[in-house]
Amino acid sequence: EVVTRFAPSPTGHLHIGGARTAIFCWLLARHSGGRFHLRIEDTDLLRSKQEYTDSILASMRWLGLDWDGELTYQTQRADIYNSYVDKLLESGHAYWCSCTPEEVEAMREEARQQGLKPRYNGHCRTRDLGPGEGRCVRLKTPLTGKVVFDDMVKGKIAVDVSELDDMVIRRADGMPTYNMAVVVDDHEMGITHVIRGDDHVSNTPRQILIYQALDLPVPRFGHVPMILGPDRQKLSKRHGARAVIEYQKDGLLPQALVSYLVRLGWSHGNQELFSLDELVQYFDGGNLNPAAAAFDPAKLEWCNAHFMRELPLDQLAGLVEPFVLEAGLGDVPRERLESLCVMFRERANNLKALAESFRPLLVSAAELVYVEKDAAKHFTDAGKTHLRALAEIFKACEPFSAEALEAALNAYVADNGLKFKDVAPPLRTALMGFMGGSHLNEIMAFLGREETLARLARPAQ
Ligand code: GLU
Repeated sequence: EVVTRFAPSPTGHLHIGGARTAIFCWLLARHSGGRFHLRIEDTDLLRSKQEYTDSILASMRWLGLDWDGELTYQTQRADIYNSYVDKLLESGHAYWCSCTPEEVEAMREEARQQGLKPRYNGHCRTRDLGPGEGRCVRLKTPLTGKVVFDDMVKGKIAVDVSELDDMVIRRADGMPTYNMAVVVDDHEMGITHVIRGDDHVSNTPRQILIYQALDLPVPRFGHVPMILGPDRQKLSKRHGARAVIEYQKDGLLPQALVSYLVRLGWSHGNQELFSLDELVQYFDGGNLNPAAAAFDPAKLEWCNAHFMRELPLDQLAGLVEPFVLEAGLGDVPRERLESLCVMFRERANNLKALAESFRPLLVSAAELVYVEKDAAKHFTDAGKTHLRALAEIFKACEPFSAEALEAALNAYVADNGLKFKDVAPPLRTALMGFMGGSHLNEIMAFLGREETLARLARPAQ
């Protein structure tokens, strides 16, 4: 069985890099009918906050990444980690060390001066010390050999043990160290595949040494490169390195973000857009790209526009509703929202923009804001004459439907030897406040007779 996990540190909201890692882990588990766990790595007590855990969980749910079983919090598991440290002490794979931080620093400095990697020199390795105040526990790293693993993304990686000194696995304060905790957790959770950011790749040989010392099976590892900015530098806020919740607030669809992020580091032929079902079907942990991909906000928008177009109307209306409320446009009945979506969905790339595009049709005639240059250009004497004439015609239009209004408008143009473009711009500006929007007859049918006539009257006064 494939078992994966996502192990965020709750020191901030879920960002797109972490989200992509979580998606990969989730997909691999779902693809193989395995399990996906979520572990909160909250051992940094100063920076970890419950509100970030809550926010990460909310983002996971919004993205549709459900997890199996209970959440695990590392801070609740110190005793478990220490029981494994004890096993290592008993089996002779670890030892107590009384070297002070100053002494260790001196050893590191000495190594540096010899042009070597700074390292602990193994001073206490053979001293056979027992526990005691201020003593930490170190792993006995083998003296020769290499740690080798076949990374799912980067291929074969080999590290000579001379690069790895006897690492601390329990600090002098009795707390297990990060690498120790991760190995114990991944083992206890039955993790078979660890996919994480490649900022952790240097921890992996150390973790493998702990597995080996405990005589435990080593999971497969995959280290994904970080996401770069459009300029191929480190992704920054300026480039859209934002938290998942910020995209949610902007009105992106979760399936668009998932589809876009997955493609930044994985491919399936030339396909650019994927439903979640397709991803689950195709993602088997292969085709992960070892080269870092650059984040492209414009492509994300494009991707979102696509998914917005694909959504069934009732779903789109339901999704845009909170954005309509948020924009102060009131509690609009569902059926009216659907009509608005029909008229405007092709013209917006996200839900927030879509809600905003409804504004001219949801305010009253008196509140409608005219775009200055459109009003100046189209509310001419001739324009106002047309508006007055059309008002008379629409007043009598029965029923006040899109079809009847279209016929009435066409008849007015034809009967007076006009062209549509003589009449449409003033009418459009009067209805929308600017030269945009949807089909005029649909707009008027949506507004209804009274509101349409009020809009035609305002510039014509
Ligand atoms: N807590 C680590 C992070 O947020 C993840 C470590 C891991 O996946 O092993 O970067």
